[in-house]
Amino acid sequence: MANLGYIQVVRHCNHFCGFCSNPATPYVHDLASMRPLVDDFVRRGYFGVILTGGEPTLHPDLPAIARYATDAGLHVRIITNGTRLADPAYARALAAAGVRLAHVSIYSVRPEVEARLRGHAGTLTTALAALDSAHAAGLEVNVNCVINRHNADHLDVNVRYLTRHHPQVRHFVWNNLDPSMGRAEVNQAQFTPRLADFELSLERALRHLHKGGRTFRVEKVPLCYLGSFGWASTETRKIVKGEERIVHFLDAKQTVRQTDWGHVYAEGCAACTLREICGGLFDRGAAYDPAELAPQFVDPDPIVRAIIEDPDDPAYPLRDLAAWKAAFAARRAGAGEAAGEAGGADAVIAVGRLTEVGARRYQAKRRHEAKLAEQRGVAQEPDADDEPA
Ligand code: SF4
Repeated sequence: MANLGYIQVVRHCNHFCGFCSNPATPYVHDLASMRPLVDDFVRRGYFGVILTGGEPTLHPDLPAIARYATDAGLHVRIITNGTRLADPAYARALAAAGVRLAHVSIYSVRPEVEARLRGHAGTLTTALAALDSAHAAGLEVNVNCVINRHNADHLDVNVRYLTRHHPQVRHFVWNNLDPSMGRAEVNQAQFTPRLADFELSLERALRHLHKGGRTFRVEKVPLCYLGSFGWASTETRKIVKGEERIVHFLDAKQTVRQTDWGHVYAEGCAACTLREICGGLFDRGAAYDPAELAPQFVDPDPIVRAIIEDPDDPAYPLRDLAAWKAAFAARRAGAGEAAGEAGGADAVIAVGRLTEVGARRYQAKRRHEAKLAEQRGVAQEPDADDEPA
């Protein structure tokens, strides 16, 4: 399986998004604490690792940990807001360290919307520059976008602009807002969209990309809001292929290993023909409305076939629908290769450390962000020190 793991290398950031689900914590990483996490992904047979944050490029050892993971055989990616990546020399340094792919996060190509969502002006120009500097350095470059109330109506405008002006971007990733963690949880009313808010603009965006030969994934959006692009659902692909995901959170949660891709289902989902391969409604923060879900009465096989026959995903071994159905039934019955078994026994590895220096920096960051929150009209998340370990 082509499992991808995540390591949060830092949790601080130079932006101040009102819906950040992973804001600053007192935990710190260094090379010594990150290496065992990489080693564990290798031991589990993972395909690659995504170095994320916070803003991972703020960690001085990002190139070093990328080199370590690359030398260990992992495909190395980063998720970044693009601030440092816009510098061509830094982009070249990451490429030289073995980073293969940069997911640059852009919420809106309307500068005033992007600035509002980022908590700072001028961020769009820098992120767009990062698309070009990363490409010039030889990195593959994708665009990541969190769907929220303020960009929900123009997701198609975003991709039209990006494909026209930055044609090197061949792949797009949408994440519907996770309202259950961090700053997103205390600002749900301001940023959480209704599914209906983005249904049409997402459909237009996906059609545009598909027509232009580009690829995409959409996470935390139920299949009844993906039209004919159900095969692009991250959850559905994981369910179909039995993949898992490990995230090493640089906070009290530490390591989360996700093998179950089903979220919340409404009563009507029981009648839906897509129920078995649908992730449902991502509603851990109780911010979405299950009444928006709409049972589908379509054949699920074309969705499954599009996933298992995907020529861009050669790692999945079962290309035949009948073989997949047998394996899927066995997996569901708990008899076969249950989702998550590929990794073997879970090992408990400390994710980062709590240090005096980290605690001091964190409290300074909290004070700075308290002012930003007041100026930007958003609530600040609870102090991480108050959360249970
Ligand atoms: S009705 Fe329920 S099971 Fe069917 S596509 Fe929507 S969320 Fe998924």
